[in-house]
Amino acid sequence: MAYRTTSRNGKRFLGNTNTTEVHDLLKEDKRSNGCQIDEFLRAGHGVYFIPDTHEQAKKEGYDNCAKCIGSSTR
Ligand SMILES: [Zn+2]
Repeated sequence: MAYRTTSRNGKRFLGNTNTTEVHDLLKEDKRSNGCQIDEFLRAGHGVYFIPDTHEQAKKEGYDNCAKCIGSSTR
């Protein structure tokens, strides 16, 4: 399942409901044109996954962020 969050604490994968892309916080691109995780969290578009895995995010229809995960399937 995916649950709304405004915090990245303790998470590895975060989804953006606006773009339906998933990000890997261990590989986050922090440049201004990168993942923009803080921006979408602030905007209320953040979700985390249970379990907190890339596989789960994909099952829920989230595509790979090109900046931190790559190999977008769209
Ligand atoms: Zn990303």
